[in-house]
Amino acid sequence: MSIADNLLKYKNEIESQGVKLVAVSKNHPAEAVMEAYEAGQRVFGENLVQEMVDKQAQLPADIEWHLIGHLQTNKVKYIAPFVKLIESVDSLKLLKEIDKQAAKHKRVIDCLLQIYIADEESKFGLGFDEAIELLRSEEFEAMKNVRIIGLMGIATNTAQEKQTIAEFNELKVLFDGVKVSFFRKADSFKEISMGMSADYKLAIAEGSTMVRIGSNIFGKRVIKHWKNKE
Ligand SMILES: *Cc1c(COP(=O)(O)O)cnc(C)c1O
Repeated sequence: MSIADNLLKYKNEIESQGVKLVAVSKNHPAEAVMEAYEAGQRVFGENLVQEMVDKQAQLPADIEWHLIGHLQTNKVKYIAPFVKLIESVDSLKLLKEIDKQAAKHKRVIDCLLQIYIADEESKFGLGFDEAIELLRSEEFEAMKNVRIIGLMGIATNTAQEKQTIAEFNELKVLFDGVKVSFFRKADSFKEISMGMSADYKLAIAEGSTMVRIGSNIFGKRVIKHWKNKE
């Protein structure tokens, strides 16, 4: 199946359930993104700043770019002019920098707090307590140029469905608690980004509002070393 065929299949299946599809185009060339774009996709996810910046410059301006990978504070400035959603905010320090760079461009940048739900050491993210602490902080309170619209999480890469379901459920329960405690009146706080190619069905069943799908749409990742790789 072509990229366009795959895209339409997943887009229809996912969006008919009221869930947003983020097409993860990391490690695939701009032409692959363009093929999905021409099939109707507008929301793309990238995990490297340089790769996103390069593609953004070459591709149509109405694409919504989501940064989904770990973001270093010194790179925020490169994406601040255009990024639609930063899904991977994993520290107060990073959020402060996003706020600062967004102000320079007179923007408010939407963000998700990435929450650590996996049973793996390599995954970035805030612990539950750290997320609450961030939301309670006076520093966060003072920020004018970021808006937190939800939470993101990556489940453990495992064939044990019970574990995956339990991890997604933890994120949903945390989301509900944070909503009541901090965003009761903010309609914009409504996103739970969870689910990838292997586990998106389980994620949707547990309350995901946004899934990030790469290999199911684009196939195996082809670019091994993006130029200026981080
Ligand atoms: C690569 C990546 C995805 C997509 O993974 P697939 O298994 O190819 O669908 C989703 N989320 C994040 C954070 C990623 O880095």
